[in-house]
Amino acid sequence: MNLEWDEDNIEHIGEHDVDPEEVSEVLQGQTMRKLKPIPQFKSEKEEADFWASHDTTEYVDWNTAEVIAPGTFLPSPHCSIDGSLLLSRYVDLEVAHGTVVVRNLRQLYCRHGHPRETRLAPEAEERVRIFEALALAMEPEAKPRKKAKRAPARVAVAERPAT
Ligand SMILES: [Zn+2]
Repeated sequence: MNLEWDEDNIEHIGEHDVDPEEVSEVLQGQTMRKLKPIPQFKSEKEEADFWASHDTTEYVDWNTAEVIAPGTFLPSPHCSIDGSLLLSRYVDLEVAHGTVVVRNLRQLYCRHGHPRETRLAPEAEERVRIFEALALAMEPEAKPRKKAKRAPARVAVAERPAT
């Protein structure tokens, strides 16, 4: 996708509560060098051990990663049904009525297959929000349509074998 910012679409983006700078950052992240896939962790300990022995810059693009104040720990998401730690996988998702495919979105899911626990991770939600606003801005003539529900059938899952 090629982006050109003119006053019109910047103004339009503004209506969607998205900062143009934020958009270009996300777009850069999208086209950045390929990062190694983050393995699926079976436990928080396994995850901690992994990060203690690997260089995070090979896995995480810190230019687009969100910075959290030191001492702030996000609670690990757990399944509300069986209490197990939710796992992460990466999916490509069509957004904005199929006009944009956003790649490598982190999706949380329950290892026991409880479908209602399947959801995008917060930072992935944020990227989707930006791309949807962006797509709308790219077609300013389009009439506002009812927001389509994201159907699970359109999700291409690139699942890796558990390590
Ligand atoms: Zn579950």
